[in-house]
Amino acid sequence: MLITFQEAAQKLKAANKILITAHIQPDGDAIGSTLAAMQMLRSMGKTVQAFIDDTVRRNLHALPHFEEIRRPVEGEKFDADLLLVLDTSPDRIGNVPKLTAAPILNIDHHVTNTGEGYDLYVEKKAAATCELVFKLARELGAEITPEIATCIYTGIATDTGFFQFSNTRAETLAIASELINCGVSPHFISEQMEKKTLAEVCGLCDALNSLKIYFDGKVAGMTLNYETVKKFDSTEGFIDEIRVIDTVDVAFLLTEKAPNVCRVSMRSKGVDVSKIAAKLGGGGHIRAAGCTLYKNLADAEKILVSAIENALITY
Ligand code: 5GP
Ligand code: MN
Repeated sequence: MLITFQEAAQKLKAANKILITAHIQPDGDAIGSTLAAMQMLRSMGKTVQAFIDDTVRRNLHALPHFEEIRRPVEGEKFDADLLLVLDTSPDRIGNVPKLTAAPILNIDHHVTNTGEGYDLYVEKKAAATCELVFKLARELGAEITPEIATCIYTGIATDTGFFQFSNTRAETLAIASELINCGVSPHFISEQMEKKTLAEVCGLCDALNSLKIYFDGKVAGMTLNYETVKKFDSTEGFIDEIRVIDTVDVAFLLTEKAPNVCRVSMRSKGVDVSKIAAKLGGGGHIRAAGCTLYKNLADAEKILVSAIENALITY
């Protein structure tokens, strides 16, 4: 069920023991919003624990209080009166729902999140879930410490490609400006986020070597097989290297995470890739979306390219 911002704030105020989580394959906005909300709600005297049911790429370990995030253990229970789900619908949080039967409060900015079966405050124009956590902090009168501001800024910066993507609004920059006044150091965050291991840079070479161009240059795609992908921690940013090709509308990166498990990342300059992803069982935003295809790499590529072709025809 869709709820208002005030109702979401009220539910947070009323809760005493809160479990916070965000999506698997977590990005800067997932971890940033989780850590910011955790600190904010603790400062209001609540008992709060954050759980993420996945590994987290190394760059994000630099965020304040990152070490306090836990991964659920088989059979574990957590005593909570609210389950706060950030930056995703509750179907992408791994085994976290097994920890508690507490009611869900979902706060998100994804167009594909409909809120059926749980309380959802969604603001589709928000550049990041972290923008919504910022607004909640203001609404609830919580102090935005330098540590909280750092987490929020990281989520906004990473979800906007450091204030370059079409989701960057005047309000996004106004919030970023306020966060700098709260003590954020933008260069520290960008240096942490851009770091890559040597293996990742070599992996980017492998990805670029796999580049294929389809449909008169409108689509560009890269594929990485399991043998290559298992050598490094993250493919963050790889897709941006081909999104920039002048003729390209849709760019994709297909990575074989395990045998017959292929992750799809898509970026677009016009076509609504959230619809393509949703048709394939995933979701996301108009210009950035993803899904998982339970196929081998060659079959996954065929399915994906054909879905993109259909979207191009109807665009
Ligand atoms: P990325 O390509 O960076 O992994 O994801 C792009 C956007 O699509 C992000 O906002 C991410 O949350 C969303 N997304 C990626 N994969 C999935 C998926 O499997 N399901 C849903 N619902 N959203 C996804
Ligand atoms: Mn986000």
